[in-house]
Amino acid sequence: MVAQRSDPVCSNTAVPPDFASEGLKPLAGALVAASPRGTSRDSWSSHTEEKPSSFLGTKWKDTAEIVIIGGGCIGVSLAYHLAKAGMKDVILLEKSELTAGSTWHAAGLTTYFHPGINLKKIHYYSIKLYEKLEEETGQAVGFHQPGSIRIASTPTRVDEFKYQMTRAGWHPAEQYLIGPERIQELFPILNMEKVLAGLYNPGDGHIDPYSLTMALAAGARKYGALLNYPVQVTNLSPRSDGTWEVETPHGIIRTNRIVNTAGFWAREIGTMIGLHHPLIPVHHQYVVTSTIPEVKALKTELPVLRDLEGSYYLRQERDGLLFGPYESQEKMKLQESWVTNGVPPGFGKELFESDLDRIMDHIEAAMAMVPVLKQADIINTVAGPITYSPDILPMVGPHQGVRNYWVAIGFGYGIIHAGGVGKYLSDWILGGEPPFDLIELDPNRYGKWSTTQYTATKARESYGFNNIVGYPKEERFAGRPTERVSGLYKVLKSKCSMGFHAGWEQPHWFYKSGDEIGYKPSFRRTNWFEPVGREYKQVMEKVGVIDLTPFGKFIVKGNDSVKLLDHLFANVIPKVGATNISHMLTPRGQVYAELTVSHLSPGEFLLVTGSGSELHDLRWIEEEALKGGYNVEIKNITDEMGVLGIAGPFARKVLQKLTIEDLSDSAFKFLQSRYIKLSDIAATAIRISYSGELGWELYHRKEDSAALYNVIMEAGQEEGIDDFGTYALNALRLEKAFRAWGAEMNCDTNPLEAGLDYFIKLNKPADFIGKQALKQIKEKGLKRRLVYLTLETANIDPEGNESVWHNGRVVGNTTSGNYSYSTQQSLAFAYVPTELSKVGQKLEVELLGQNYSATIVEEPLVLTEQTRTRLQKKGGSAKV
Ligand SMILES: Cc1cc2nc3c(=O)[nH]c(=O)nc-3n(C[C@H](O)[C@H](O)[C@H](O)COP(=O)(O)OP(=O)(O)OC[C@H]3O[C@@H](n4cnc5c(N)ncnc54)[C@H](O)[C@@H]3O)c2cc1C
Repeated sequence: MVAQRSDPVCSNTAVPPDFASEGLKPLAGALVAASPRGTSRDSWSSHTEEKPSSFLGTKWKDTAEIVIIGGGCIGVSLAYHLAKAGMKDVILLEKSELTAGSTWHAAGLTTYFHPGINLKKIHYYSIKLYEKLEEETGQAVGFHQPGSIRIASTPTRVDEFKYQMTRAGWHPAEQYLIGPERIQELFPILNMEKVLAGLYNPGDGHIDPYSLTMALAAGARKYGALLNYPVQVTNLSPRSDGTWEVETPHGIIRTNRIVNTAGFWAREIGTMIGLHHPLIPVHHQYVVTSTIPEVKALKTELPVLRDLEGSYYLRQERDGLLFGPYESQEKMKLQESWVTNGVPPGFGKELFESDLDRIMDHIEAAMAMVPVLKQADIINTVAGPITYSPDILPMVGPHQGVRNYWVAIGFGYGIIHAGGVGKYLSDWILGGEPPFDLIELDPNRYGKWSTTQYTATKARESYGFNNIVGYPKEERFAGRPTERVSGLYKVLKSKCSMGFHAGWEQPHWFYKSGDEIGYKPSFRRTNWFEPVGREYKQVMEKVGVIDLTPFGKFIVKGNDSVKLLDHLFANVIPKVGATNISHMLTPRGQVYAELTVSHLSPGEFLLVTGSGSELHDLRWIEEEALKGGYNVEIKNITDEMGVLGIAGPFARKVLQKLTIEDLSDSAFKFLQSRYIKLSDIAATAIRISYSGELGWELYHRKEDSAALYNVIMEAGQEEGIDDFGTYALNALRLEKAFRAWGAEMNCDTNPLEAGLDYFIKLNKPADFIGKQALKQIKEKGLKRRLVYLTLETANIDPEGNESVWHNGRVVGNTTSGNYSYSTQQSLAFAYVPTELSKVGQKLEVELLGQNYSATIVEEPLVLTEQTRTRLQKKGGSAKV
């Protein structure tokens, strides 16, 4: 490939000093010349017809139901979906013209594929919408669907594709693992030397992002939304009733809700109200070649190619090719100055200076894979800003701590996400709850610990890792540890393999001499398999200690605390000194969250949730408290409080050495909580353990964590006390058939099909959220159920999200899985149709391209310590 003309800009605009110093290129007025879109030429005529209208020429309203800030593909899609669904007074404000941020110059790739689970739904909806948008709006969108192939040229990559096949099998989009012959047939100009396999998605392709946005805009207007531009939002003021004043140079708009869809300016919108969205623009470039005779000679358009080892995408562009690489984290470029100084004023339809040197390795890899590229000239380069969040997933939904402020920001792949996210958010806004689980996009997964430095380091890593192999239990290490470490971090860090949870480091498993230490990801059992078995045994036979500090912890107190919790939770309110497991349901009766609720003193509660759901749950609780006008105080004490878990048959004996409190079974019962002193260290002790073994969780001041840990470890010497990590905890809880939030239950599942009936008190007097819906669900009967499966495998265990088969077709999916160290077989939870949910039913679970026979068994595989004790007292047998 020869760079014939690396400057894509036919601009007659002088470079303002701001841009020149940033190495930026203004491109105002040069869209057509700069755009590489030839295949969508059919839509140019409508480009020019779509004149940037002044809001003065359209309607101006100073009140709105919703104000959407930013007219890129995301904001416009949201306006379209809200208006189409019937919302009145939808106003979108765009400071220059529609698409003037990242949208106009995107390569426009669209794919059904996503390695995650929930985002597949977003991709699916987008593609189906884009297929019919022209018909609906009369606006051509330049949608090409030649399919796409991801190329595997290493055996590990082939494994990854097999892993992805089982995760896709229970979703509607077509996806096939294909061999070299079929790949060559679909992509005749590919050098097949290194190609082992391909992941093929028919229906994938590319769309003209500009035309797509204009079609959505046409639809939005047709259904009554106002798209006002150029109108810049200059300030936001919250009002005491939860509504907002949106300031613009043309006046103030009063609105019930705002949605920030401002692309790489989103941070600046957040700053207006004191929020620091963890976002950073990165430079992404693609090049377009001149006509290539071999491409011109093709009878059908080439599928989009993704060479994962070479880390680039490549697609046909007219009679040439378009090629876009993802550089390594060392080579890629961040636009950090926009974070520290803001986006330069006036920056709009501009591009960055292209830098072919930076992508030379990828160009060479592409020329080896697609040799005709060697003869091609580069006629265009596009280098533009993409907004990255630390984990490269966007942030979509309401923001904790600010009422009626929603975001849809941080889109690395906004073109494929626009349709689905617009629909998802619109359904959520109108329906009052997320239409389906998309927890990985929750803006509240970040917090104060996501500093600018952290964001930059992570964005670098995420960009560089765009095409790395995605393993189960993946860990990424850049930017760690954050400033949010547990009081035990220093004590434990060299002794274990740590996992990352909402800013925290938490031990996965601990090293012993002879272990192969460190993070060794694999699609099969790997280096932690035996050590986790050792920790499992430690807890089952002796006593283990685990750092549970990452839990989210809140205190709720005040005159109305009981009333509020009775309204929030489907379980009853525990008595003073007691604890229970309670679920917050959505109005549709789905599981929004699972918390441990302890009634510490009259009207004062400690609420504990998983690390990944801290601000997710807090937002919901705060919102309900405000909506209902409850007189309560809600305090997030997550960062102040450390938590140590102690579990195993000797847990009582060890703790008893440290306290004068009577810890006997009759004096300190299961699910009781109380303040105790352990060797002079104050703690709220709750008799509970997710391991299902005899145990306590000890909530204490974070600064006391190391001292508490040391006294416990010392006291337990005789009993052979040792550490255990979250992997062993997971193995223990699965054998007890304990459900996990985010796996067996989420807002895609109701508590009845999840088998949580015990915790749901439909006959309690309070009309808790979701009660009526749940009654109806019960009346109608369940269509599917959570079942408990054992399966015979070889060196591999289920992880969750695998396809479950019966009689040659996929009938369900696993939700989590593991190895059962006590019964020495694999174990999984899965959702299957009710008619296939009886104990004894034979099914199959697909793992790495092979179907393993599975049997539904009675739960649990191992009885909990309380049940064993109860049975022993009655003189029965206790299966362990
Ligand atoms: C080179 C390149 C190639 C890409 N290729 C692909 C691809 O193949 N597939 C894919 O899915 N994605 C791709 N992307 C990513 C995609 O372009 C973005 O994710 C997407 O365009 C983001 O859309 P958005 O609506 O969030 O933001 P933007 O398009 O940036 O829109 C934000 C809008 O907000 C407006 N705004 C900002 N501040 C204010 C204010 N104060 N008041 C009013 N309005 C305001 C801006 O003017 C702008 O129009 C690519 C990006 C680049 C740079």
